[in-house]
Amino acid sequence: MASLKLEDKVILVTGGNRGIGAAIVALLQELGSKVAYTYRSNCDAQQGALAIQADVTDKAAMEAVAEQVEEKLGPIYGVVANAGITSDNFFPKLTTEDWDAVIDTNLKGVYNTLTPVIPKMYERTEGSVVCISSISGERGNLGQTNYAASKAAVIGFAKSLAREAARYGVRINAVSPGFIETDMVKSVPDKVKERIVSEIPFRRFGKPEEVAWAVAFLLSPVASSYITGEVLRVNGAHYT
Ligand code: NDP
Repeated sequence: MASLKLEDKVILVTGGNRGIGAAIVALLQELGSKVAYTYRSNCDAQQGALAIQADVTDKAAMEAVAEQVEEKLGPIYGVVANAGITSDNFFPKLTTEDWDAVIDTNLKGVYNTLTPVIPKMYERTEGSVVCISSISGERGNLGQTNYAASKAAVIGFAKSLAREAARYGVRINAVSPGFIETDMVKSVPDKVKERIVSEIPFRRFGKPEEVAWAVAFLLSPVASSYITGEVLRVNGAHYT
């Protein structure tokens, strides 16, 4: 039977305790991977996965995460840089704190997650990384100058690292979700939600599981073996 060949692969997911990250952890477990995930504050246990409390903005903590995962589960094959936040406001009201928090988490957090892992992947000439970007980073969004900048930067980061990593047999891709039903969009007022849904050809928000399948495809050493530096949109044709 055909398979994504992710069985027994060690995969680290940041922000795996809820939302899109939790769906990714659950799917990878179903696919037979050995999964570790990080959470910042609230660990809703994901059965069978290794949960580690670590803030992606803390470089030393992320180094310790990589060490712990390799010690407990084995060499890391895959990383899903998923942890992210919003701190929205129209630009004149956006504070330096809003700016720094979002850039530190969504962009520097990806850097902190990957620096301890990438050299080891190069040594082993194997690995697949998926960074979670956003539709906001591709087309911009009201009140999200900070968030959109961080998510656009993640695409530039992934494309550049993909070019460097190819010679080592390591692939780096991004998934760019549209509006997905998680806590992150819960705070959007109903009227705004209705307007957004009316702009989406599928006339609904996406589900975390629909993002998880795209991530699994890009992690797979067989399904996406010739794909790197790519951005896979999961947005119901909201932006094409
Ligand atoms: P949620 O708000 O539901 O979950 C965010 C996750 O990130 C949580 O697990 C949270 O951990 C973790 N996290 C946040 N900050 C940190 C930090 N400093 N260190 C470690 N972990 C952290 O978000 P979603 O599931 O919706 O989003 C997941 C990713 O997908 C994000 O990168 C987001 O930008 C992106 N995305 C989401 C879209 C959507 O519509 N939902 C659309 C496009 C992209 P804790 O619970 O402990 O705080």
